[in-house]
Amino acid sequence: MLVQQILNSKATTGVLTVSPDAKVSEAAKVLADNRIGSVVVSADGGKTAAGILSERDIVRELAAHGKDCLDAPTKKYMTTKVVTCTSQTSAQELLSQMTEGRFRHMPVVEDGKLIGLVTIGDVVKAQLSELAMEKQALEGMIMGH
Ligand code: AMP
Repeated sequence: MLVQQILNSKATTGVLTVSPDAKVSEAAKVLADNRIGSVVVSADGGKTAAGILSERDIVRELAAHGKDCLDAPTKKYMTTKVVTCTSQTSAQELLSQMTEGRFRHMPVVEDGKLIGLVTIGDVVKAQLSELAMEKQALEGMIMGH
């Protein structure tokens, strides 16, 4: 299975972004309002990713230095070395990179442009539905219909 199929199976398309100068509290609101765990930080309105800010980055900073971080810009706490994939990356490769890097979100980039975002949950869901279809097809073959 390829990232393209996972993107096709997602109910929502597009990537939610915040500006690098947006406050961490604003990014937290985007995360909460949209029930997501990470937001891409983009300086050009979503064309490219300057970084990624996860709920984990915010919690880590809150625990270490308290609530002042909420007024700081997202660029202060975002991860700047963003690991990305393309629509042709395999689900297997995605899972191994996420497991090795210990992150759950991966922006999809095509020709230098951000075209989507896949989460570990999207990958698992798409793989489960592929397995269910394969099972149905095999049962159909065995039963002769
Ligand atoms: P996550 O599990 O995705 O919520 O994020 C865990 C940590 O990895 C946080 O520090 C994120 O900023 C970072 N992170 C999330 N996604 C990526 C990614 N695609 N590339 C690099 N770092 C990431």
